[in-house]
Order: sequence, then structure tokens, then C-alpha cells
Amino acid sequence: MKIINTIEELQTIRKELKGTIGFVPTMGALHEGHISLIKNARVNNDIVIVSIFLNPTQFLPNEDLDKYPKKDAADKRICELCKVDYLFMPDVNSMYQSNDEISIKAPKITGFILEGEKRPGHFDGVLQVVLKLFNLVQPSNAYFGKKDAQQLSLISQMVKNLFLPINIVECDIIREADGLAMSSRNIYLSIEERKEALAISKSLNMTIIAVTKGERDAKTIKTKMKEIMSNLDVEYVAIINRNFEEIQTIEVKNTIILIACKVGNTRLIDNMWI
Ligand code: AMP
Repeated sequence: MKIINTIEELQTIRKELKGTIGFVPTMGALHEGHISLIKNARVNNDIVIVSIFLNPTQFLPNEDLDKYPKKDAADKRICELCKVDYLFMPDVNSMYQSNDEISIKAPKITGFILEGEKRPGHFDGVLQVVLKLFNLVQPSNAYFGKKDAQQLSLISQMVKNLFLPINIVECDIIREADGLAMSSRNIYLSIEERKEALAISKSLNMTIIAVTKGERDAKTIKTKMKEIMSNLDVEYVAIINRNFEEIQTIEVKNTIILIACKVGNTRLIDNMWI
């Protein structure tokens, strides 16, 4: 595996690459969720490129940019074991040339609900950095987790709206054995909070059981979910279709149920695709 730290080096190497390129953008502190994306890329491409870049423009001023976990040595080892060809780890000054760059705006409706409402500006930053990375890496296939469902949807829309010749691959959510969705932020949780956080996946699992038994009413399901998560500081529970429009009646194969909540000081998101 070759580690690339500069943009110039990446561009020089990229010119010589032949075959399909699978790209996995991450912010590091890699876990099984990231690994599943990398494995998917490895199986389906000639060359695999992973990026690790803690992107400041997608963090709000009061968020955890400064304390976001950094595990460069372990991350490099993981990428090596997963047979990644190139690990791109640029520094912030090379990715951003000034504070007043040409920017990209998330769409007014789907970019400003749910995460976009709770974290204004977040998706502008996500789209900005992903577009920069796409332009540098020029992947055939780019891998994103359903864990960040709204991000995945907006990136797919960006690819479509801006005619980018990239196939976006949606990857399933990877969970701990007890159901907690894997996240780099889970390490912030105390032992007690970690237990409390299980209410999130429990409430999502309940929705599957309810829908299997025939329940289709979104309001009823939301009420039951909030009961299960009554100990948590729930920011939102949303039931939407795959176009991110709120729905009253669950449509099987066209519904996503999303949760954002705070467990202690840690903000967690999770969802279930039904
Ligand atoms: P991040 O490093 O948090 O920016 O995540 C990088 C990519 O990994 C994104 O596409 C995430 O959606 C994906 N990802 C993070 N956690 C998981 C998970 N538990 N299961 C699947 N994909 C994930």
C-alpha cells in the first residue's frame, strides 16, 4: 500500500492508473463499518483508494472537530490488511486554499431538513469536500454507508445534478453484536451511556417487527419508538420515503426511518431502510 500525502503526488499517480477505481472517503478512526466499504470496493475494482481527511468545513463551530478521534497508525494498518492500494491523507491547507473558495450548496429542501436542520451548513461542507475528492481521485465507483442516509442521498443527487461520471455504491449499516451502529463517535460513550444507546437500535428493530405484523401508520410507529427511547435526548425521529419526503404511511421497500439523539454529550444517528 502506498500512502499519498500531497495532491500533486496523487495527481501524478492517478494519471498512470488503468482499470476501475473504487474509492472510499472517510474521516479516519476506522471501524468495521468503514472496513465493509473497503472490502466491497476491493472485490469490485482493480484499484482501491481510501482517503482519510478530517474535513473542517462539515463541522459546526460548537461540534467535535478538535476532539474527533485520530488513529493514523491503526488506520494505516487496517488499510494495509484490507489490501488498499493507495491511502490518501492530505493536510487541510492543501485541500482548502483559502477561506473564500467557490462553494457548493446543498439543495434547499432535502439539504435543510433533519441533519441539515440540526447542523446548518454541514452538508455544504460534505458536498464541497466530496466533490474535491472526486475530482482528485476520479473514481469509477465510490462507496458510502447507509448509516449516513441523508449524506448518501445528497451525494447521489450531486453526482446526478453535476453529471459526474461516478457510480455511487450504497453499503449496508454495520452494527456491533448488540445492535449499536458502528461509529467513530461511539468511543465517546461511557459504559453506562453505551448501554443506554442500545435503545436506538432496539427502537429501529421494533419497527421491523411492527411492519412485518402489518403496521403501516407512521405516527403509531414513531410513538412506540419514542417510548423505547424515553431515556434518551431524541432530536428527531423521522419516517420518510427514499426521496426524503415525510410520509404518513409506511411503504415497504421505499421507507427510511431515521433517528438522531444525544446520549450524554455524544450525538448519534442511526436508521433502518424498510
Ligand atoms: P466517516 O468516516 O464517518 O465520514 O464515514 C465514512 C463512510 O463510512 C461514510 O460513507 C459512512 O456512511 C460510512 N460508515 C460509517 N459508519 C458506518 C457503519 N456503521 N456501517 C456502514 N457504513 C458506515
